[in-house]
Amino acid sequence: MRLYKTDAIVLSDSELGDQDKIITLLSDQYGKIRAVAKGARRLKSRFAPAVQMLSYVNAVLYRSQRIEVDTFNECKINSPFLGIRNDLVRLSYGYYLVELIMKFIRGAETPPFLFDLVLKMLFLLETTPEKSLPVLMRSFELKMLTILGYRPYLAGCVDCHRRIEKSRQVYFSGYEGGILCSSCSRKRVGKLVSYEAIRWMKFFANTPLKKLANMRAGEKIEKELKVIPESYIPHRLGEDVLSYDFIETVQDLEKDGDLEKIID
Ligand SMILES: [Zn+2]
Repeated sequence: MRLYKTDAIVLSDSELGDQDKIITLLSDQYGKIRAVAKGARRLKSRFAPAVQMLSYVNAVLYRSQRIEVDTFNECKINSPFLGIRNDLVRLSYGYYLVELIMKFIRGAETPPFLFDLVLKMLFLLETTPEKSLPVLMRSFELKMLTILGYRPYLAGCVDCHRRIEKSRQVYFSGYEGGILCSSCSRKRVGKLVSYEAIRWMKFFANTPLKKLANMRAGEKIEKELKVIPESYIPHRLGEDVLSYDFIETVQDLEKDGDLEKIID
């Protein structure tokens, strides 16, 4: 039984009884934590403002040896990320990011650097021009996959290991876990992508997030790079990431100007 203090990002909150909430945190030192915020559903709760999804907090928690779930003792907000919370497009990316972490990290243990990556991403999600958000998210996905040991194989054909020549067709297979040459893709299902798209993928995997804050890869490439969230990630997880569709829906509504209409 002990008290401990940690910086953490609130990944999810759910109701517990009439008064309390159960919160899932991604912490910088103690991995993924589940903790009860007593009274957090009450209007005047001291925890209520802090324990909201996507908040970056400093928490003092109590760990008991008898039960698996910790208890909040104190919780202060480091950053509420209002810029994400108050913008539906940015919020849709925030939901997606949280779902990725919740689904890839099943237990309490988290790999090194994951917390730092997620926190940096949240700060950038708040400030990056909206048009650069798809590029930023592809880079986040590739970095997260690298940290988790799931980086796609891009050095050559994942099957025969031959280098892919610029003049040859190249396929990307979420199922196989990387790129396929044209002869191997006959036996295995892959999606035709451009050589340029693979080069961008490598670039996004290796370039620091903050350098991508004003970058675009062009509409064609950005469309091709959707093989990562739409095929590669679902294959690694063995399930879909449901909030990915929400990003697309919000973007479509915004593009058509429908977002303002439905809110009016
Ligand atoms: Zn091959």
